[in-house]
Amino acid sequence: MEPLEVGVMFWGDAPPVEKIRYVKGLGVKCGQLGMAGDADLSRPAAAAWRDALRAEGFELATVFAAYTGENYADIPTVQRTVGFIPPATRAEREARTLELSDFTAVLGVKSIACHIGYVPHDQNHADYIAVRDMVRRVCDRAAGNGQTFALETGQEPAATLKQFLASVGRPNLKVNFDPANMILYGTGDPIEALEVIRDDVVSVHCKDGDWPPKGVDGALGVEQPLGKGAVGIPRFVDKLKEIGYTGPLTIEREVHGEQQRKDILAAITLLRSLR
Ligand code: MG
Repeated sequence: MEPLEVGVMFWGDAPPVEKIRYVKGLGVKCGQLGMAGDADLSRPAAAAWRDALRAEGFELATVFAAYTGENYADIPTVQRTVGFIPPATRAEREARTLELSDFTAVLGVKSIACHIGYVPHDQNHADYIAVRDMVRRVCDRAAGNGQTFALETGQEPAATLKQFLASVGRPNLKVNFDPANMILYGTGDPIEALEVIRDDVVSVHCKDGDWPPKGVDGALGVEQPLGKGAVGIPRFVDKLKEIGYTGPLTIEREVHGEQQRKDILAAITLLRSLR
């Protein structure tokens, strides 16, 4: 992968060769693979992805985990359903994440990632302690597989995330920085946030969006095509260069079908003009 190479985030929701050829058809040869909560993480499935990546000359920076039962409808629903925070699904999601780390090792990919959900501010809170300890166990499995474990940003301010990273205390715990999430969740200016956690960023999402509507409790902002939202993509790319980031610029566009294809193609053009 070249420094700041443009890539695409995609889901493992089709046979590997078919999916990789689709993504290559957009004009990139690197990306991040997301595996849904019910996606096949077995050894044969991992071998099929590994072989397809090799045959197609496609490189993955990260494999993302998502979990069955997650719902991003609004902020209270995210708090209740996403990541490691909900106590009822914690054990099964831990097992799933460890499994994803082993799956990713077969692919030869050096980073796993997920949204862990809203981390409580109070370090003495039972959920904080349980999630901190769970993140340590995931880090340790990832380290054994030669991987970093990257937390997706956005649901807490950068300072809270920075403090959480320190309290976990694992050198392979990193950040997948998504500037749009900072805006969609109303957590803070993404460029200022990037300055706070600059030393911890291992990968990024190039995504855009608008701030939540004023006066609507718990509402999220709306994602927009890259360059059309409030992030300020040129200043984001400039900031990444300033902090010495050399990983890929991975486009994430969370709509589907023809709209997604069209927006990704425009995003590739935009990012190639900025890198
Ligand atoms: Mg993202």
